[in-house]
Amino acid sequence: MRSDARPVRVAWQNSTDMLIVRTVDEMTRLAQTRRSEGLTVGLVPTMGSLHRGHLSLMKSLRPEVDVLICSIFVNPLQFAQGEDLDAYPRDAKGDTARCKEAGVDVVFSPDAMYPDGHDTRVTVGALARRWEGAARPTHFEGVATVVARLFGVTRCDVAAFGEKDFQQLAVIRRMVADLALPVRVVGCPLIRDDDGLALSSRNVYLTPAQRTRARTLSQALFALQRDVAEGLDDVSVLERRAAERVDSDQLEYLSVVDADTLEPVERVYRPCRALAVAHYGSTRLLDNVEVG
Ligand code: AMP
Repeated sequence: MRSDARPVRVAWQNSTDMLIVRTVDEMTRLAQTRRSEGLTVGLVPTMGSLHRGHLSLMKSLRPEVDVLICSIFVNPLQFAQGEDLDAYPRDAKGDTARCKEAGVDVVFSPDAMYPDGHDTRVTVGALARRWEGAARPTHFEGVATVVARLFGVTRCDVAAFGEKDFQQLAVIRRMVADLALPVRVVGCPLIRDDDGLALSSRNVYLTPAQRTRARTLSQALFALQRDVAEGLDDVSVLERRAAERVDSDQLEYLSVVDADTLEPVERVYRPCRALAVAHYGSTRLLDNVEVG
């Protein structure tokens, strides 16, 4: 440990304490110390307002690592002007309780993430351009930049991301491979509410009536899966049938894509994914299912 470093408590040995770290410097020192002791570090990056989807990521890493970190940071870089950065749901108290429940050792919740003069962006190419990238052109640059920085700050060996954000997971995997980052990326299944709606922090924006209609998004995707299981493989027909089942204010896209490249396909003959985004008022909901 550097001589100017403040001593850190060993929260994960003989204690149920969970540390809450609020500065990048403190997190870096803590992570360096734990790594130098030979301990393994796992990271679950989040924007808070935690729900069962986030918890499933933490639970999947918990048995694998000595030190489990959950980062909570609403990253301005991944929001464009006019998006919901200021309104994004925040629930510090609930988040702390949920992290404890999931066995997290360190909640890294910095007020400031970037250093003065920060001027570096991580840009992923083709994988980041379609779908979410088309609708939100600076989004993935913001995501890749903060995730790369979080990997640096936490010195994590492994990090978990949800298939809920299927394209994001692909973008992160690409970045890690291209930059030879020493982090293993674990993808975790999408967790749904009992009615099928994909869990999302943004679901709190929905009125009860919108929420009822929003169920049709997952129902349409499940129906598409059934159509494929019954032998239908013509993607234009599959997409049209599914789109007709969605009751929304705007169906932004519902597309069957190659699960690796995320390029559109004409027939389902290899592992594919159906990606969808529907609007309910000003709320944009993402969903996706495995196909084929
Ligand atoms: P967020 O806080 O929305 O940035 O999400 C943080 C992480 O949790 C991302 O890797 C998401 O993909 C993942 N996540 C969010 N919702 C779910 C869900 N319903 N099921 C699985 N993972 C999720």
